[in-house]
Amino acid sequence: MKVPLLDLKAQYNSIREEILKVTQEVYESQYFILGPKVEALEKEIAQYCSSKHAIGVSSGTDALLISIVAADIGHEDLVITTPYTFFATAGSIGRTGAVPVFVDIDPDTYNISTSGIENTVNGMTSDQSSKLKAIMPVQLYGQCADMDPILKIAEKHDLVVIEDAAQAIGAEYKGKRAGSIGDFGCFSFFPSKNLGAFGDGGIVTTNSDELYEKLKILRVHGSYPKYYHKIIGGNFRLDALQAAIVSVKLKHLDGWTAARQRNANRYRELFASAGLDNIKLPVESQGRHIYNQFVISVPKKRDDLRLFLQEAKIGTEVYYPVPMHLQECFSYLNYKKGDFPVSEHAASHTLALPIYPELTEDQQAYVVKKIKEFYLN
Ligand SMILES: *Cc1c(COP(=O)(O)O)cnc(C)c1O
Repeated sequence: MKVPLLDLKAQYNSIREEILKVTQEVYESQYFILGPKVEALEKEIAQYCSSKHAIGVSSGTDALLISIVAADIGHEDLVITTPYTFFATAGSIGRTGAVPVFVDIDPDTYNISTSGIENTVNGMTSDQSSKLKAIMPVQLYGQCADMDPILKIAEKHDLVVIEDAAQAIGAEYKGKRAGSIGDFGCFSFFPSKNLGAFGDGGIVTTNSDELYEKLKILRVHGSYPKYYHKIIGGNFRLDALQAAIVSVKLKHLDGWTAARQRNANRYRELFASAGLDNIKLPVESQGRHIYNQFVISVPKKRDDLRLFLQEAKIGTEVYYPVPMHLQECFSYLNYKKGDFPVSEHAASHTLALPIYPELTEDQQAYVVKKIKEFYLN
């Protein structure tokens, strides 16, 4: 049996006619950049995420970057974030000349530790405090960070909150949708995300009219009115084809999410009946988890397990093998191994299993059977 990590062809086959219809409309209109398809998607996403506004951008990475710029964060400003994330989170901070300040994660959710943020903020010198501008939590694997304490610290110290919700569209925290909780919500339509385009794309949500207007100007080189530039922006535009495709997929998202959640529950039952008690399954403690990934933590031999599964034609992935504080490009920050032990432990013990909506019960049973085989031999 073959179990890929993701099966985008299965998804495409289920929506092919709808996709061909809307892409054809774009071809006939010859309107490729921004325009009515992008505006329609923005309205739909704003509504889906319970946010006042949404603005389509060129990628999830650019959603982060444009938000940082819109918040006037740059040279030598400090931004608190997690070291256990996809590179874009910390990379977008570094690219603006701002400095990522890492805080270790919670061992159960793998999201940034809120007591850790508090300790870091309280331990800052007055010079550092004056440079501290934002907190950028990541809603990792499809589950929100513990946002209330983050908002509280942000309010006390006058910090902007930028949610990296690239893995979490549809996730909820205390009934609030990911992306609607902080000042900015940043989403990615990278094809392998739970809501993926047929290329790069992303979107920013915000409840602020003022930030929305600024984001719109920054998206087109800071041009307002046309050809007059009070600020420097960039080309952060989303194209109509991607928007049209994401609009079609958005209608199916809740169904796909329900299938991912069903698959997560099936894994729980399968792991329990296999007696694999020393493998840690995802802990759902912060509300609606949309299972962009299903990540387990194993006691030992993670990399050997991964190879063993690969030989059994089971796709897995390690999100992420090297925490940000140990990345070579951040060596100038002078972090060292041992600084964030929970992140480092996660980086060497976690493994993402296939969880995509079209996965069958037989495939899941096969995955768990093989994991059992590995640990019993
Ligand atoms: C995918 C992802 C991004 C970047 O999105 P792109 O669309 O690939 O640029 C940023 N942050 C996280 C946590 C992600 O998973």
